[in-house]
Amino acid sequence: MTTTLDQLSDLAAEATVCAERPPLVVTSPLNGLTLGAVPAGTPDDVALAGERARRAASQWAAWPVQRRCAVIARYRDLLVTQREELLDLVHAENGKARVAALEEYLDAVLTAGYYAKFAPRHLAPQRRRGALPTLTSTRVAYQPKGVVGIITPWNYPLTLVSSDAVAALAAGNAVILKPDSQTPLTALALLRLARQAGLPRDVFQIVTGAGATLGEPLLDQVDHLMFTGSTATGRVLAEQCGRRLISCAAELGGKNALLVLADAPLQRAVDGAVQACFSNTGQICAGIERVYVHKDVYDAFKVAFVAKAKALRLGTGPGYDVDLGPLINQAQLEKVQAHVADAVAKGAKVLTGGEVRDDIGPLFFEPTVLVGVTDQMKLAREETFGPVVALYQVADDAEAIARANDTDYGLNAAVWSGSLAHGRAVAARLRSGGVNVNEGYAAVWGSTDAPFGGVGASGLGRRHGPEGIREYTEPQTVAAQRLMPAGQPPWLSRETYAVVMTAAVHWLHVTGGQLLGKVMGR
Ligand code: NAD
Repeated sequence: MTTTLDQLSDLAAEATVCAERPPLVVTSPLNGLTLGAVPAGTPDDVALAGERARRAASQWAAWPVQRRCAVIARYRDLLVTQREELLDLVHAENGKARVAALEEYLDAVLTAGYYAKFAPRHLAPQRRRGALPTLTSTRVAYQPKGVVGIITPWNYPLTLVSSDAVAALAAGNAVILKPDSQTPLTALALLRLARQAGLPRDVFQIVTGAGATLGEPLLDQVDHLMFTGSTATGRVLAEQCGRRLISCAAELGGKNALLVLADAPLQRAVDGAVQACFSNTGQICAGIERVYVHKDVYDAFKVAFVAKAKALRLGTGPGYDVDLGPLINQAQLEKVQAHVADAVAKGAKVLTGGEVRDDIGPLFFEPTVLVGVTDQMKLAREETFGPVVALYQVADDAEAIARANDTDYGLNAAVWSGSLAHGRAVAARLRSGGVNVNEGYAAVWGSTDAPFGGVGASGLGRRHGPEGIREYTEPQTVAAQRLMPAGQPPWLSRETYAVVMTAAVHWLHVTGGQLLGKVMGR
């Protein structure tokens, strides 16, 4: 790639357009300075991408999965060699601290490596029990959907683009991706790397531009949508997919809870909670915005947690000595301010933070911890998506679980306990797509072999693991019949068939079936 920050305008050439388009200027949230420009795409550009993708999809799907995965492995290798350039780009375009950029970079490398290695296994046809034992040989094949649309947000501009595209491509689909307008350069840099790795040009295309302009036209071109973003947009898109009868996965927002149980290892819980609340300046879908602490450890936890939050370093620098970068834009800053102001006006108390830090940059907000947050406050139930967290004292596990579950969302949760068995037992009672025990979010998120996703207002579908790649496929059942029909044979009367089959079906589903299964090695 060798994209240094002063060569960013080159990246615009990777986007699919059918004519010259006005520039969509990309500025850095660090300082408001212009980084580059990409084409402000139109529905015609999406249509062109659709035509090209449709043509490319069948050829790509015909490649053996191992050959597709070899391209992905080369792409993963390029990610590895381009670490510093990619981190610089993510830092400049999104503003996030380098340590947060590193986290998503590592995830992208991990996911590309995982699917390069395991996609053949996850996509291999599976034998299933046939209609008639030994006579019906049944297999399920995972066929690509065709053309997959991916819409990504700004908060993880590297790994969400890379990891979803890799899974869809490994499954044999062509991909048309629309990145957020605030972070299109990172997406285009990844596309360039994928092409350098040997990915045929039309198999993966990016159309840049406004979601409201490109969203519906994109749905007209694709067989499946993978959307990551806000719950509000997710609902609109899921409805539009429903009308077209195309499948969609939607990874949406969260109002995630962290539980500190009475037996929690306190210092580890404090360290983990600070990371989970403030990483990526709180602009993380799996980030923690509510912390429920058992009364026996509440005071000690509160003191240590506030001290650690207060010590976090805000900054614009590109080094690992910065903990928090700015918020992404003015609207996000205002939302964070409004949530804190509303809570304070209604009686909540700020233990640390609460202030805009325009002495550092235009979009900085301090890591903020509040107590006394009640249900009447926006902060209690709405996703803030910033460096703001509320602490609550609870009497016991039951109260912690009930309050954690009292939300429309269900993406991520965390439980801290001195006993994994205790932590797991509490986890099982939480309504959440993922639960970390003695970790904030990274244990679930980093378990690339296991599904990640939400319930309720946090979305539909899963990424990662076998479930994540199979989302981009249609299971196709092929059942081959030997010797005699699976239905009534012509030489048996219907009456006899009815008697024989009723007995056979009963036998099959009780002990006989198990026995036969063992004999057949199934
Ligand atoms: P958003 O919904 O405003 O935008 C996300 C993407 O959708 C952008 O690319 C945008 O251009 C596009 N878009 C907007 N309106 C559209 C429309 N009508 N049709 C088609 N596309 C449209 O979300 P955001 O505020 O930018 O992102 C933050 C949200 O994303 C938060 O709620 C966060 O929790 C969520 N998120 C979820 C996950 C997850 O895995 N669950 C991961 C990251 C972010």
